[in-house]
Amino acid sequence: MPNIDTYKSIAQKLQEQNVCLVAVSKTKPQEDILALYQEGQRVFGENRVQELVEKQAALPKDIHWHAIGHLQRNKIKYIAPFISLIHSVDSLRLLEEINKQAQKHDRVIDCLLQFHIATEESKFGLSIEEARSLLKSETYQSMQNIRICGLMGMASFVSDQEQIQQEFKTLKSYFDTLQTEFFSQKPAFKECSMGMSGDYELAIQEGSTMVRVGSLLFGRR
Ligand SMILES: *Cc1c(COP(=O)(O)O)cnc(C)c1O
Repeated sequence: MPNIDTYKSIAQKLQEQNVCLVAVSKTKPQEDILALYQEGQRVFGENRVQELVEKQAALPKDIHWHAIGHLQRNKIKYIAPFISLIHSVDSLRLLEEINKQAQKHDRVIDCLLQFHIATEESKFGLSIEEARSLLKSETYQSMQNIRICGLMGMASFVSDQEQIQQEFKTLKSYFDTLQTEFFSQKPAFKECSMGMSGDYELAIQEGSTMVRVGSLLFGRR
């Protein structure tokens, strides 16, 4: 079961700092989600489409579900009816599919562009050059059913705090640059999704507006 006291103190602190808490419930049972729901938590993050779809169907309908993991294009159709925010957009082709599926449901789906800020090879995400070319493309500019609300990134899995801090600074600088270059007239572009259980305080210090916290709330996976 989740640690309710830990949840309450983190949730309160983040609320005071105006930072959105995404409770990452992947692999955890529905009862655990309901336990935090009963404390007032409404935003939950999942990284697998099938799990997301099953939990959404079974749990209260005022939960805001965030997709935080790498997404395959052929799975977008399953989450398009209900997803609140997709954190992990890392290609124009994926964005095109989100736009297409959102159109079918007559919705606008909020998205974040995921950046590669870690040193590890395996992490998904765009470079700043790739993001610029995506945002300049006619394909992107003609999309009516997606809205880009900011950026997301994951720091390296290292213990070196200075390295992690540097990676967060990099993401924040990309955010500031792209905001100036492409979104100065778009107030919805305001989220910098960075920070997890081990580094969320550092991320907030570096300008995070949205943290994705799993194991600290729900226990080890
Ligand atoms: C699992 C996951 C998290 C949460 O990780 P914790 O260390 O358990 O807080 C955050 N972001 C993404 C993208 C994840 O996959």
